[in-house]
Amino acid sequence: MLNNPSQLRVPGLLGKLGVMTSIRDTELLEQSLLRTLGPLLGVLDTSLYRLDDGQLLARVIHYHRSKVVDGDGVARMVERIEEIVQLSEVPPEVIALTENVRLLGKPCTRALDGQMLIAYPLLGGDEVCGYFVFQRDREASPNEDATIRGVLEVFSNYYALLDVSQRDRLTGLLNRQALENNFERIWSAMVRPDAFNEREDGRRSQLPDKFWLAVIDIDHFKRINDTFGHMVGDEILLLAARLMQTTFRSSDLLYRYGGEEFVAIISAENEAIARNVFERVRLAIEAHIFPRIEALTVSIGYAEVDATILPVEVLSRADRSLYQAKQDGRNRVYDFHELVERGTFANPTYGDAELF
Ligand code: GH3
Ligand code: MG
Ligand code: MG
Repeated sequence: MLNNPSQLRVPGLLGKLGVMTSIRDTELLEQSLLRTLGPLLGVLDTSLYRLDDGQLLARVIHYHRSKVVDGDGVARMVERIEEIVQLSEVPPEVIALTENVRLLGKPCTRALDGQMLIAYPLLGGDEVCGYFVFQRDREASPNEDATIRGVLEVFSNYYALLDVSQRDRLTGLLNRQALENNFERIWSAMVRPDAFNEREDGRRSQLPDKFWLAVIDIDHFKRINDTFGHMVGDEILLLAARLMQTTFRSSDLLYRYGGEEFVAIISAENEAIARNVFERVRLAIEAHIFPRIEALTVSIGYAEVDATILPVEVLSRADRSLYQAKQDGRNRVYDFHELVERGTFANPTYGDAELF
């Protein structure tokens, strides 16, 4: 009995579940799930596909283990985690398989390159909110199937709890704590791009190379509260948040930073595209007809996220640009660099002084 491998694995699995549930960050938790299930199933590659609220594919995380033999002939396992933000690279067979999983709400299998491609649903409440996908030479045995389902259930429950703690209660948007977690990560990925982006075959992953951070503040919001009361104020805040969320692209991150202030982090190839995204949000709010109030506008200040500049400084640059937009009459979008070029702000100095 003792050498029955499925029994021997149980303490290991419990230990891994313990690690999983002690993690307080959703992305680390996702990585931990892949790290737990890959070795358990005897596969080197596992992937997690996450859907957004509209059930569209939002993010893909690949976990890869490989054996590396060093100069002394000693073999060791190395692991790599890669997150794909641009989704055009997802193979059509994975799309087709996961679509079946979504429609049926249960695991599905498909033959691929003489192997099996296997996908399990991740459930959030009654909805499918993602997929766990791996490839193997055989289907999951009933025992393995029960283990995968059990681990995914623990993961989903814990993920839901974490998600609640990272969301703002009124609007459902990500909160300030979530911003601090994510922003540090984007910034460290930029400071050490090789640690995140380099793939085994030397190709770069599709992580876009530029990010922009905007602070968005509702204009004259105090007047709304003063005129119509706090309850109406809350309703307008909620509607404005929803409208912004749907106007941003699904890959953009929107946070309620506090009160009637929001922060967005977006990726864009260049400044013109970034400006366009923020301008679209400003126009969407301006054009929308809200109940009771005559008009609502927002002012936006933004700055490029630069690897040589600390996150707190990027936030401050966006905030100073926002302040300037308010000064100049509100309902406008200001870019920090444009203001520097115009001579409104002193030229910022780059380099070591800002890093230490
Ligand atoms: P400005 O155009 O300069 O931004 O003017 P403002 O009135 O929007 O700015 P100020 O920062 O002076 O006021 C923000 C107001 O937002 C004050 C506060 O009562 C209100 N507020 C903050 N959080 C909430 C909330 O959760 N619900 C409601 N109803 N009001 C809020
Ligand atoms: Mg305001
Ligand atoms: Mg404000």
